[in-house]
Amino acid sequence: MGMSMKTADIAGRLRDSIRIETDAWKKRGIEPSLAVVLIKGDPASEYYARAKEKTAHKLGIRYRLTEFEPGITQSELLGHLGELNEDKSVHGIMLELPLPRHLNPSEASGLIRPDKDVDGITPGSKLACFLGTRGLYPATPQSCIRILKEFGFELKGRHVVLVGRGETVGRPLMPMLLREHATLTVCHSHTENLARHIAGADILITAAGRAGMITADMVHPDLVIVDAGINETDTGLTGDVSPDALQRVKAMTPVPGGVGTLTTLILFENLLKAVGMQIGEGGLK
Ligand code: NDP
Repeated sequence: MGMSMKTADIAGRLRDSIRIETDAWKKRGIEPSLAVVLIKGDPASEYYARAKEKTAHKLGIRYRLTEFEPGITQSELLGHLGELNEDKSVHGIMLELPLPRHLNPSEASGLIRPDKDVDGITPGSKLACFLGTRGLYPATPQSCIRILKEFGFELKGRHVVLVGRGETVGRPLMPMLLREHATLTVCHSHTENLARHIAGADILITAAGRAGMITADMVHPDLVIVDAGINETDTGLTGDVSPDALQRVKAMTPVPGGVGTLTTLILFENLLKAVGMQIGEGGLK
């Protein structure tokens, strides 16, 4: 039976450090503030916006939600994002995606100032992540790497098999894992014989969004798995890895209670980095 890498303790420590840093900014007269822009009508987006509101409240961070009717025009949306860009009392901006089909998501998200882009989705943030320069990197990939480090699994020199090359998780993980000196194999929907690649892996990171696609017969006792998949099924939330694989590996993150638990907090950690960037103080990796 492998170790279940539950992240509740790491999340607790991160929550404490975010609270302490938030209080320190407040003592200096700066109230860290996150603005979330939500177009009504997508239940998942509405759920995530409320979940962030609760987390912000617990952390003592100011949270501003602007909700728009689904009929909002592209220019109205761009106008609002432009105002948030200019507003000095707003340090982070998040546009809940997906947008209704008549709106252009890349034009809208591309307008967000990179130093307020806590989600790491603008071209400027993506370039920083790719090059390893100062900027706000996406939260889920950071969460995957943080978990491995916190549990003491070294990446340097290890063979990592990454399943998924999507915009949110897989793609930004590629340069981040290479900077950690991992040896990387990236698999995707055209990969032949996924099991053969996994057989040679020290670490498996899954970000495909396919419930239970990695089965217990594909894993081995020396393998460490970080499962970033979040899939809604009839039986609740599941990852990309079948839960019974835990019995056959060295360690594995649970879903829920693994990667996702840290992701929201890392968004707020990004917000505090954003505050530092905007008032000209560094601290960014
Ligand atoms: P996408 O949904 O855009 O892409 C999925 C990737 O998986 C693609 O590269 C696709 O290959 C690959 N893939 C799909 N099916 C298979 C298969 N059968 N075998 C091998 N590869 C496959 O990726 P995102 O990065 O946007 O998100 C990935 C998942 O991460 C989401 O579905 C969600 O479950 C999860 N997620 C988790 C979060 C968290 O906090 N834990 C936050 C955000 C997302 P191809 O490129 O060839 O199409």
